[in-house]
Amino acid sequence: MLSLDTPIADTGLIRIDKKSSSALDKLKLTTVGDVLSHFPRRYEDRTQFDIFPEGPMETPVCLHVVVTDAQNRFGRGKFRRYFEATTEPVGGSILGNKLTLRWFNLSYIQKIIAVGQELVVYGQTKTSGRKLVMDHPDFEIVEGDPGTPSAHMGRIIPIYPLASGIGQKQLRSLQYEVLQRVPDSEIPDWLPPGSEDSGLSRAAAIKTVHYPSSLDSLEPARRYLALEEFAKLQLELMQRKAEQRDRGGRQHCGKGELFASLIDGLPFPLTGAQERTISEIRGDLASSHPMVRLLQGDVGAGKTLVAAAAISLVIEAGFDAALMAPTQILAEQHFSTLQSLFEPLGVEVRLKTGAKQAGGELPLFQSIESRRYGSVVVGTHALIHGDDDFPNGLGLAVIDEQHKFGVAQRQALISKGDAPDVLVMTATPIPRTLALAFYSDLDVSILDELPPGRGKIVTGIRSTEQVKDAASFVMDQLNAGRQAYVVYPLIEESEKQALGAATVEFEKWKKLLPDAKLALLHGRMSPDEKDAVMDQFRTGDAKVLISTTVIEVGVDVPNANTMLIFHADRFGLAQLHQLRGRIGRSENKSYCVLMIDPAQDDARKRLKILEETRDGFRIAEEDLRLRGPGEVLGTQQSGLPDLQFPEYLGDSRLVEQARQIALEMIASS
Ligand code: ADP
Ligand code: MG
Repeated sequence: MLSLDTPIADTGLIRIDKKSSSALDKLKLTTVGDVLSHFPRRYEDRTQFDIFPEGPMETPVCLHVVVTDAQNRFGRGKFRRYFEATTEPVGGSILGNKLTLRWFNLSYIQKIIAVGQELVVYGQTKTSGRKLVMDHPDFEIVEGDPGTPSAHMGRIIPIYPLASGIGQKQLRSLQYEVLQRVPDSEIPDWLPPGSEDSGLSRAAAIKTVHYPSSLDSLEPARRYLALEEFAKLQLELMQRKAEQRDRGGRQHCGKGELFASLIDGLPFPLTGAQERTISEIRGDLASSHPMVRLLQGDVGAGKTLVAAAAISLVIEAGFDAALMAPTQILAEQHFSTLQSLFEPLGVEVRLKTGAKQAGGELPLFQSIESRRYGSVVVGTHALIHGDDDFPNGLGLAVIDEQHKFGVAQRQALISKGDAPDVLVMTATPIPRTLALAFYSDLDVSILDELPPGRGKIVTGIRSTEQVKDAASFVMDQLNAGRQAYVVYPLIEESEKQALGAATVEFEKWKKLLPDAKLALLHGRMSPDEKDAVMDQFRTGDAKVLISTTVIEVGVDVPNANTMLIFHADRFGLAQLHQLRGRIGRSENKSYCVLMIDPAQDDARKRLKILEETRDGFRIAEEDLRLRGPGEVLGTQQSGLPDLQFPEYLGDSRLVEQARQIALEMIASS
């Protein structure tokens, strides 16, 4: 019998050598307990095999085959050398059907596969020339009768996430043996009895998820474990919220005269949603508990103004306020927005980014008005450094596009003050279930109304083969006095490549639009260069901005009404929605064209929702469904926990249940 904290190395269930131990490290598997919570990423039904296919199949198939020929081959192109195994159904092929398995650039395969072996293979079939092939199949060499249930055959088989240095079969054997040897008493229930109607115990749920007796038995087990995960997280969030409340903040709210002058000076009335949100924030500022509020709003809903309103209340009370943005471009834009709002009121705004400080040191002679107020500082994460930015005490920290910052950065800004009020803003709408699951330690305000007078955005998906048509469409818009973005959202990890590509595309567009003034913007430019380019575009001097995704967040140039996005198929819906949010900011009709490679035709289906709606919440739900919560929330950066079980959209009831459980646990503790 094993206990959960037994080190794997002591179990004798797997041979530990350099390779396997580095793989186990990578998978973070140290103890028996870790193995139990290393869950399958999918399953294969090996209770029965699929019928040997005669042609390409839409879905992957699981086949029992015998190898009749195996050899190295040389092909053309990038993957010159490959290994090929010809197979037929075990028991012979009546119609003479064959299936060719291929592995490219995997030299070890040839040492494993030999003629006469029986294999179970799993994968997608397609045709190549006149052959039916399966490339890089999941496979296992059959020893014994594949119909007899074992760790690997004759039942529903788990497929585990791997790391290099350990094979599927090797890891699965370990999992299987561990499951046999851990007594149920080692896996006690954490959820209170009766929290879930399936009647499962924790031990049963965990064992089922590894080796389900049927595919139907999986769902109740998954739900049990999802509920447990949610409830643990809820408990943690509730405790965090309680701690925040108890931290003892103070009131940071002025009388509202400065706020009133700010609103009076606007050329437009607030939207209803802005008014509601501002009054929610005002309530928090006036209370002596520290505010921790999330402001959610679709792109263009006018969050900056809400932030400005909050700032006005805090500085009127004599405290300082900070607005932190993730990029320099955005910080500068906020700076100039706040400057134009506050300067007429005699309030000075300062800018602090890594690259520059405008307004610089506190001025020698402050205007009389300004002296009555706290100071306003806008910046990037440079705000985290330096000790002298908040001489009156930081009363309010506003963090824009919060998902672009790590927890530590947010915390570093917050700790510049003594329990300041905190407003975090996000432009990626967060579906309700997700918000409940991950952000229930925050109060949430939602800006769900675009200001009036926003023209329609027409969105269309086109092929890159139509680039000439696209160019002449852009030219028409320029002739009508508008401006355009052409975006090449290349994958970030290859900044250098992206730069290369953007530069190449820039030259191409110069030829496509010989009569227009173009500007190029990319992440490798110095801050001054970026500034100069953005200025050119903002003032209308440059008509077309060729850009990488640096413009993704926050850039506001209302006269730009047209956007072409290349390689649109490579990006998440929410990100495309963000990009598109740069247009549709004036009364003019706007146009967003998603350019996809002709080979990426199935991307059309995925992108279609962008043609149908401009509602960020709907798009976010769809994105969540397609890509999962990690991608949608940016789990990596934000330090949110990676839950394993929840299928978020279907689980809103589970999240509610988890809240109840957590509340009861807190009440009874
Ligand atoms: P986001 O929510 O995406 O950050 P911004 O704060 O950048 O949006 O606002 C987008 C644009 O809408 C800005 O040009 C801003 O001046 C304008 N705007 C904000 N509030 C209103 C309003 N109530 N009426 C009209 N325009 C507004
Ligand atoms: Mg914004």
